Amino acid sequence: MVVCVALRVGFGTTGTSYLVTVAPYMLVSAGTPVAVLIGTHRHRPPHRAGWFLLAAAQVVYAVADGMTVRDDWLGDFLEPTPADLVYFASYLLLCAAVVVFIRRRTPGWDLPGGIDALVVAISAGLLVWIYVLQPLTSDSALPLNAKLTQSAYPVLDLMVLILAIRLVMGTGNRGPVLWLILSSLTLMFAVDTAYAVEGIADGSSVDEAYLDAMWMISLGLLGMAALHPGIRRFDKRSDTALPDASPGRLGVLAIAVLMAPGVQFIQWLRGTPVSVPLISAACAVMFLLVLARMYGLVAAQRRAAVTDGLTGLHTRRHFTQALAVECRRAARAGHGVGLLIIDVDHFKKVNDGYGHPAGDQVLREVARRLAAGSRAGGVIARYGGEEFVVLAPHTGPGELYALAERLREEMAGLPVDVGGELLSVTVSIGAAVAVDPDPEALLHDADEALYAAKAAGRNRAILSAAR
Ligand code: GH3
Ligand code: MG
Ligand code: MG
Repeated sequence: MVVCVALRVGFGTTGTSYLVTVAPYMLVSAGTPVAVLIGTHRHRPPHRAGWFLLAAAQVVYAVADGMTVRDDWLGDFLEPTPADLVYFASYLLLCAAVVVFIRRRTPGWDLPGGIDALVVAISAGLLVWIYVLQPLTSDSALPLNAKLTQSAYPVLDLMVLILAIRLVMGTGNRGPVLWLILSSLTLMFAVDTAYAVEGIADGSSVDEAYLDAMWMISLGLLGMAALHPGIRRFDKRSDTALPDASPGRLGVLAIAVLMAPGVQFIQWLRGTPVSVPLISAACAVMFLLVLARMYGLVAAQRRAAVTDGLTGLHTRRHFTQALAVECRRAARAGHGVGLLIIDVDHFKKVNDGYGHPAGDQVLREVARRLAAGSRAGGVIARYGGEEFVVLAPHTGPGELYALAERLREEMAGLPVDVGGELLSVTVSIGAAVAVDPDPEALLHDADEALYAAKAAGRNRAILSAAR
């Protein structure tokens, strides 16, 4: 690729025959699908559909390049030429390849990544409209067929770019392959746009050799991506669904949202007609998207703060708040509040005998059975390492003790399967119920009852005497 680019630029400026300038370009164009296929064959990524689609897109692209060379040779053609149609097909195949990569890498629909990508897409779309499509469509010298054909390229380019942004903004493996693909597609977008703008400016400003060189580099980068061993893990499914708000991501979003007001300002400075409705609409939509993203981040943080990572139950922090609220409500209404503290018996032996991961698995199973055995409306939380609490509003002593016994039996009745090994796991439960309760006193009473249950030989529930 480097040699061909050097040849193309070298010949381009000295003005040699057409065939000599075309040969290096065609070599890179035809070489790209070959590189993609060699990379796919050599590195054997687990899922090849995306790479085969990419190779197909590049074969079609090379065919279109060949047809363009012939058209240029013969001269005089009517748009859209057959070559244009073949180019369009290659863009669509390229889009399909990127969609396959996105669907494989990102679990679910990854709404946050999608919103980020949409913000950047709106910004890019606005620029393409203002600087490429609008001048193109309002050029009265251009016949309709030429307008449509020439507009199709920036639109398809924008589609590819949006998908590339979606690929990067979504979760998934980061590494050279991702950056090579992104650079290739962004460069292609940039050169195609420059070409379109040059067409608008009547072909005098940009040297064709440099445009060709850029296209060759873009193709070369795509080929390099497929030749990189990183394609083995490139479309590995990501285990997180939520991309974080990293400084890089925020920087990209900041540039994207500032683009629209920036363009308006530049238009105003230059005294060109300002596209007020369009830019206002784009700004409004981007504001709303940023707000939606903010809501999602805050909601996720709140969920994380009240959810225990290991068991999925509530955290101690959430439980403490819920207990205070419930005690105040019960004091006003004059009904009872029940509390259970549940501690796994001889849990250290599980850790010591089977390892910490097995201990974690037991904790998850205990949590699952507690959640299944408790009635709806209560709050179940992991209070400490292997200690759980159940808050049961509107509950009298008899009902609470029955609940405690049921939960104890849930554990003692069925051993826990840890990697094929059946462990008998029991729990001791301290129960306390109070009318007009004070959170501290209720916790203290339940804790005393738990201590008594342990002292009495474990695998039992004891109800504290009501205050
Ligand atoms: P007892 O019947 O008296 O409750 O005996 P025990 O062995 O359960 O004693 P204790 O409650 O003191 O043991 C708590 C152990 O729980 C100690 C700690 O290593 C373990 N532990 C705490 N958090 C976790 C965790 O998240 N995962 C695992 N695997 N172990 C934990
Ligand atoms: Mg304990
Ligand atoms: Mg214990």
